[in-house]
Amino acid sequence: MVGGGVVGAACALALARLELDVVLVEAAEPSAWSAASPDLRVYAFAPDNAALLDTLGVWPQVRAARVQPYRHMRVWDAAGGGELHFDADALGRRELGWIVEHGLLVDRLWAALPQAGVDVRAPLRVEGLEQDGEGAENAGVTLRFDDGSRLEARLAIAADGADSMLRKLAGAEVAAHDYAQRGVVAFVETDLPHEDTAWQRFLPGGPLAFLPFVGGQSSIVWTLPQGQAAEVLAFDDAAFSQALTRAFDARLGQVRPASRRVAFPLRRQLVDRYVAGRVLVIGDAAHVVHPLAGQGVNLGLRDVAGLRDAVAAALARNADWSSPSRLARWARTRKSENAVAAWTFDGINRVFSSDGMHRTLLRGQLLGLAGKLPPVTAALWRRAARL
Ligand SMILES: Cc1cc2nc3c(=O)[nH]c(=O)nc-3n(C[C@H](O)[C@H](O)[C@H](O)COP(=O)(O)OP(=O)(O)OC[C@H]3O[C@@H](n4cnc5c(N)ncnc54)[C@H](O)[C@@H]3O)c2cc1C
Repeated sequence: MVGGGVVGAACALALARLELDVVLVEAAEPSAWSAASPDLRVYAFAPDNAALLDTLGVWPQVRAARVQPYRHMRVWDAAGGGELHFDADALGRRELGWIVEHGLLVDRLWAALPQAGVDVRAPLRVEGLEQDGEGAENAGVTLRFDDGSRLEARLAIAADGADSMLRKLAGAEVAAHDYAQRGVVAFVETDLPHEDTAWQRFLPGGPLAFLPFVGGQSSIVWTLPQGQAAEVLAFDDAAFSQALTRAFDARLGQVRPASRRVAFPLRRQLVDRYVAGRVLVIGDAAHVVHPLAGQGVNLGLRDVAGLRDAVAAALARNADWSSPSRLARWARTRKSENAVAAWTFDGINRVFSSDGMHRTLLRGQLLGLAGKLPPVTAALWRRAARL
């Protein structure tokens, strides 16, 4: 496993729990999570992925440390029209999902690796790859690292993020599109309580999300064209408060910053193949999507769940868990599901991040219509949350 972010660490753990010999190589050993300094990168974590981490024995540790359930989601458009409201009660659930810090997930996953028998090697960076020819008996890979060491394996998994080195070494190509937008993230305090609600307002420059966090704070993801994002980063606290309160239509009253602000570049990127010889590509190495639906890490963990199920099914039948046809089946399913997600978020971003009259009318109508039809709302949610 190359890359020990949330996706790589979860995959290493899942495969080790199936009693495969797993080596995890990570370029930068993660720093320990501390409750006193919340990680600015938070995820809206879906129930199926909480269930995955539960089967890996990690979710109870994450929950005990710090997660914020969200019970509602409200989506509306700055130009007017209807509002889409997802309500956990109406869907027969206690919560729709959880807001979780990236650093906490990584910390608890890493804590579980040694005990599961994963051989963790960090800091270590992959630099070279040799693949046995197809059809060779016991075909595998040899990886070369920046300290000169080498490792032979039956399979290598690229979970080394959007700029994956292992993906490049394996010869897989990506189709990339730069949204020319940035996601500004920060923690904020608000006059009014967040009501355990994930809020999203669509503005011409991009969506603005307020995710509920512990202690009454909210975590914002403010998608802006690049130039405006730079301005927002440079604002003093008073100017930031004023601009953010206005952009959010004062839905939670006055907003005040509660942390520093950082911005992430946003892109869509899809790899051409998930299996390149004896190399698999998963997580952001395979797919980067617009963050407007908060699905990036959720899609990556679904790559992991699918792979774990395929390997487990093979092992249960004493079959070759790494056979090319089995891996190809896994790849087909993941490629199509991730592509549908990436293009759906792309379309939403295009329709909603626009001032054009037709699109403005269309999105208000769409939200209003979907919001007035409870079965449509429920179906949309079940599809997004994999319920
Ligand atoms: C603004 C913003 C908001 C987001 N919000 C959400 C959200 O609400 N919900 C959600 O699901 N997703 C969200 N995402 C997406 C999410 O951050 C990514 O999808 C997720 O981090 C991908 O995980 P990963 O493990 O595949 O990759 P990464 O987190 O990038 O991990 C890759 C790892 O590989 C290591 N590595 C890199 N190169 C090498 C090498 N050569 N050798 C060894 N190791 C290497 C890196 O050090 C790193 O630890 C958001 C993203 C952005 C930008």
